[in-house]
Amino acid sequence: MELIDGNKIAAALIAELKAEVAQIAGRKPCLALVRVGDDPASVSYVTKKEKTSAEIGISSNVILPPVTISHGELIALIDRLNADPTVDGILVQSPMPKQIDEVAIFRRIAPGKDVDGLGTMNLGKVAQDDETGFVSCTPAGIMELLARSSTDLKGKHVVVLGRSLIVGKPVALLALQKKAGANGTVTICHSQTRDLPAITRQADVLIAAIGRPEFVTADMVKPGAVVIDVGINRVPDASKKSGYRLVGDVHFATVSPLCSQITPVPGGVGPMTVAMLMKNTVKAFRLGASTD
Ligand code: NDP
Repeated sequence: MELIDGNKIAAALIAELKAEVAQIAGRKPCLALVRVGDDPASVSYVTKKEKTSAEIGISSNVILPPVTISHGELIALIDRLNADPTVDGILVQSPMPKQIDEVAIFRRIAPGKDVDGLGTMNLGKVAQDDETGFVSCTPAGIMELLARSSTDLKGKHVVVLGRSLIVGKPVALLALQKKAGANGTVTICHSQTRDLPAITRQADVLIAAIGRPEFVTADMVKPGAVVIDVGINRVPDASKKSGYRLVGDVHFATVSPLCSQITPVPGGVGPMTVAMLMKNTVKAFRLGASTD
């Protein structure tokens, strides 16, 4: 079994971006990070994104509206950022409070600044195999992990567990694309899927993104499969200072001995998500806000 080291692959990507940004004379790329409220996971994700931006030389602009912000006020904030020529990329951290229609917020971000790739235009470009847009960061990170660990999806049965807008659907589209590294035969499963283990056992490559701690067990995995564990779940653990530990959607201890390759949690997909956000921000800077 080979561990796919997301920390190492993300560090290589970040070093490449740092070298690229160092070559930019004058104004550097700028990323606006909007975090509404104090969800602990969101606080840690946005802090990580801010730190990684600084490491690369991307300037970040962290905006912290109160948790009570109305949908209309958040839309107005997005409009201001869309119109600001010094802002290249905009990310609004999910989850957002109940009064906010998240998808409407994703759609409002100008396509050329939509570095999280969750707006209609950029998701549509993924469906059209059009590389001029921004691929959402976690799915893009998964494809980069696979490419950099020499897993070609061509002709393989890729089973995606989960159909969310943020992970499941876009990663399934990417695996399906008619291009080098992709060309997978893709099955998407969700909470209404019947006899899940029978399907997951067929997977040459299993991508688990359901948000259920250690849900995927050894009986659900074909020996020799590549397993990508996207899940980040906090489970109570009194022995930790924080009071919790992070586990994936895969029961790592029993599944990993079966696999040819597997990502750990933490240290697998998570660092790649941040690295791909940085890559998209540099791309947005290069393209200018005119992309549509
Ligand atoms: P969502 O809750 O939006 O979607 C979960 C999906 O899993 C849904 O499609 C749901 O089905 C499906 N599902 C839930 N339970 C089951 C079940 N018992 N059997 C089959 N399918 C099921 O989650 P996200 O996609 O946003 O996130 C998934 C996980 O990935 C989470 O742990 C999250 O923290 C993590 N994540 C990690 C990132 C990273 O950077 N590593 C980035 C983003 C997310 P249905 O549609 O029918 O409800």
